[in-house]
Amino acid sequence: MRGELTLLRIVFTRFPSFQYVKTCGFGCYPGHQGTDYLLGDGATGGEYVVAALGGNAFYTNFQPGPNGAGNYIVIDHGSGRFTRYLHLLSIAISYGPIVSAGQLVGYEGNTGSPWLCPGPDCNSTPHLHFETKINAVSGDPSSGTAINPYYEYPDYNDLWTTNPPSYQEGESVGVASWASNRLDVFVRGNNGAMYHRWWDGSAWSGWEYHPGCLRGGPAAVSRMTNRIDVFVRGCGDHLHKKSWSGSSWSDWQDLGGCLRSEPAVTSWGSTRLDVFVRGCYDALNWMYSDNSGSSWSSWQDLGGCVNAAPGAATWGGNHLAAFVRGCSNGLHRNYWFGGAWSGFNAPGSSLSGCLGSGPGADSWGVNRLDVFIRGCADAAWHNYSSDGGVNFSGFIEPEGCFTSGIGVTSRLSNLLDVFGRGCGPRNLWQKSWNGSSWTAWTDSGPWP
Ligand SMILES: [Zn+2]
Repeated sequence: MRGELTLLRIVFTRFPSFQYVKTCGFGCYPGHQGTDYLLGDGATGGEYVVAALGGNAFYTNFQPGPNGAGNYIVIDHGSGRFTRYLHLLSIAISYGPIVSAGQLVGYEGNTGSPWLCPGPDCNSTPHLHFETKINAVSGDPSSGTAINPYYEYPDYNDLWTTNPPSYQEGESVGVASWASNRLDVFVRGNNGAMYHRWWDGSAWSGWEYHPGCLRGGPAAVSRMTNRIDVFVRGCGDHLHKKSWSGSSWSDWQDLGGCLRSEPAVTSWGSTRLDVFVRGCYDALNWMYSDNSGSSWSSWQDLGGCVNAAPGAATWGGNHLAAFVRGCSNGLHRNYWFGGAWSGFNAPGSSLSGCLGSGPGADSWGVNRLDVFIRGCADAAWHNYSSDGGVNFSGFIEPEGCFTSGIGVTSRLSNLLDVFGRGCGPRNLWQKSWNGSSWTAWTDSGPWP
């Protein structure tokens, strides 16, 4: 049994912290009008650069070196406020000039031969040069007058006091399965739309394109054979749903709400859907349907302080478990066996850890819960419970380097399939638990 095997290998690990290094501050040499951040390992570049705030990315251009901006983007946030992103490896905006806060706009690079920086190797080091401007005047991001580029809401007084993540909470990978030889994977593509591919027991399909504008990755679930329901946070921060009827996809349906994260979804029966989100006041919010999504309960506030997308799982009727990254970045769970919710576990348990993304979760049997996270140093970790979520294994099996949350589904009792977007080449990676051992992480090809 999985549980007996892995209990011997439980390690209560303190996660190393990971810093995005500020290599050259505002004015670190005469004329330096921005702040340089090393977002990745400094060798390869390609880290995500996201929009500081929503706005009009009205200008993209290339300025050759030496001492040029390279590929760069200017975003107009209104009220005379602008942000600029320089030396990008490439520009990711391909579907329109209006961008949302946190949206991928480009990839960290070293174009434009940015030679003016301290350190012997800096002219070849990929980094993000980030500028904030009020009217035409550049401001020091730590001055108190500039914009925190990684704060989600437009609060111009919010200081940029820490080095930023290159992605806010990771993307989720949505995974569903309706049979032992079936997997369906959903991701947000680099153009902001949804993509779907599936495995039929022998081969993977290509990526199927689903137009739309997503903030973050999709969540997916199968209620019964040949049915899939997919939920996303739309670019207007509403919950949107799309369903596979067995022969065709519905259009996106706007289910309203106010989301500050991607959703999580789970289902314990052919007509049951449970959806969880980080609501606009940072609590965990829940709503459900008992008629396949024809109508919904109102949103229910389950409390807590949540700073990323939740994960959710069920092993049968009236059993739900929701997992969140709390506001101190630890993992917390809240479960429901009918009646009242358990409430969130206190920090300091074997669940705590340090999460770089929201958790992914699923169940393959009664009282069994499997949770996967990307840790704060970007490895994937596993944590499971065999008693319905009261006790957990602690974090085990740190592996790989990921730039997304870790999506998981179970096709059958004691099977798990786990997916994430890798570092370096940002391909989709997969590993599987076959009931007695894990496969290695395998490269499943380019992210769409
Ligand atoms: Zn610079």
